[in-house]
Amino acid sequence: MGIQQDITEQKAANQLLIEAKAAAEQANIAKSEFLAAMSHEIRTPMNGVLGMLNLILDSSLNEKQHHQVSIALNSANSLLNIINDILDFSKVDAGKLELEELEFNLCNMLDDFIETIAIHDHSKNIPLMLDIEHLEYAFVIGDAGRLKQILTNLVNNALKFTHEGEVQVIAKLTPINNNQMRFNCQVIDSGIGISAAQQAKLFKSFSQVDSSTTRKYGGTGLGLAIVKKLCHLMEGDIQVQSKENKGSNFSFNVVLKRSKNPQKVLPPIAMSSLNILIVCSNQAQSSILHKQFTKWGATAVVSPSAKQAVQICQQYIEKQNLCFDLIMIDMQLSDGDALTLSKTLDKEVDLMAAHVVLMTTGELNKQRDLYQASRFSAIVTKPVITQNLFKMLSTCFSDKQHSNSSLITEDLSDTQPLSSDDIVWDKSIRILLVEDNNINQIVASTTLKKIGINSIDIAENGQHALEYLKQTTSHNPYSLILMDCQMPVMDGYQATTHIRVNEAGSKNPPITIIAMTANAMVSDKAKCLQVGMNDYISKPIAQDILFKKLLKWLPYELKNNE
Ligand code: ADP
Repeated sequence: MGIQQDITEQKAANQLLIEAKAAAEQANIAKSEFLAAMSHEIRTPMNGVLGMLNLILDSSLNEKQHHQVSIALNSANSLLNIINDILDFSKVDAGKLELEELEFNLCNMLDDFIETIAIHDHSKNIPLMLDIEHLEYAFVIGDAGRLKQILTNLVNNALKFTHEGEVQVIAKLTPINNNQMRFNCQVIDSGIGISAAQQAKLFKSFSQVDSSTTRKYGGTGLGLAIVKKLCHLMEGDIQVQSKENKGSNFSFNVVLKRSKNPQKVLPPIAMSSLNILIVCSNQAQSSILHKQFTKWGATAVVSPSAKQAVQICQQYIEKQNLCFDLIMIDMQLSDGDALTLSKTLDKEVDLMAAHVVLMTTGELNKQRDLYQASRFSAIVTKPVITQNLFKMLSTCFSDKQHSNSSLITEDLSDTQPLSSDDIVWDKSIRILLVEDNNINQIVASTTLKKIGINSIDIAENGQHALEYLKQTTSHNPYSLILMDCQMPVMDGYQATTHIRVNEAGSKNPPITIIAMTANAMVSDKAKCLQVGMNDYISKPIAQDILFKKLLKWLPYELKNNE
């Protein structure tokens, strides 16, 4: 007796499934490779367009030409943003988006982010505020770039859809376990808001709550879909609460790793003995400052107007026989301005040793005049960021009594020069630029000259670079190579390998090589480092980023400005 069952069909079906799975995987790989190629192909000409437009804008143009080139540059930048959005979206979709795991200073990252956004968005004058009261530690491990991308999207939207009121960013870091922290962040605006029905489709790709929004405000409707995917990738999520015409609150969270040396976010001076008066008519701003100073140990009082500030000072002196240690005055008050108030205080109140600090937006030159014409001890520019508060505190109270130097974190002593005007490059610097694209050669070499480096040789491919390097002697060595990755004849990866194994002159194996590539994926960065390059810069090359990279790798001296 036996039972016989024909499983031929089942076997065939299994085989079909295996083949289908392999085909799907193959298709996915092909999709990613296509994406990487697209990313390179699109960014290379965009680099040329943006670079050239920047150069034209810097040349002598009449007003009309300047206006036209500025429009072209803005449009090219918008196009690059859209391309980046589409590429990012497809990358996440293909499961190809890799997250970096690097240690970074979260507090400084938020500061820099808020400052950059404020520089780009001064048109509408919507105050932007950062609240880090609950961000106790500075260093964490994670993908700072992607975190910034989430914030950029949310804060840009908040500013875009707000015409009155303010935008607040509230950041919080809470421990999860010994290895992980949760970063919670809210972006709150007082803008046009989103109806309940529309909130439901907000995080779907290519969805804008209303097609008229697109016409009025522009955008692809991809931003929030990418943000949600990025939050998920970082083991977090995003929610929105909003009321039409009242404003929106986007709140997201992601998981970050703990750093071995997290460093507390603390001011550079001991603040427990300080009495501070904050004069500011914006309630949100004064409340943030009040909470922050109190958290750092100081005693703080808030005055919403100039008139009340004078009364508060008088009452305080009567009671304490002393004045406040620090009076921080917002430039624009509901009943006057900071300059008038500082003069009134000077006349009517015995300010004693109080430090009067001006809080203002606006151009630095205008502020300098104000500063010199009055008794302000320091200026804090708005948006108020932690690094600037710390700098102001050390300017005012760096005497022994308040000194708390053990608390100063390395990053706070911000001695890094801001622009090429602040430094003198070492005379021996000589750069080898390896780049096949004619336009990119011009863009890169002109940018280098603008940064102040004039000794540049250009090689058209890796092979050519090796020949240049072989010709160098100990009298004229190259200091650094800027290396494109994809080039005909010999690419940047191969050239680097040859240089490192001593095939380009015996002095050259340790030379600094910075990859300069249109490939923007994390894996490309890893590949550059793997073959022995020292650093990485992605195209289109931004002058300030190139400058920072060169500062890191090349010798220079600070100019003596006195
Ligand atoms: P886009 O790139 O078009 O701005 P997003 O995905 O970032 O795409 O946003 C989608 C839509 O959601 C926007 O077009 C807008 O209608 C709405 N939206 C997003 N943020 C806000 C906000 N803070 N206030 C009001 N509406 C918003």
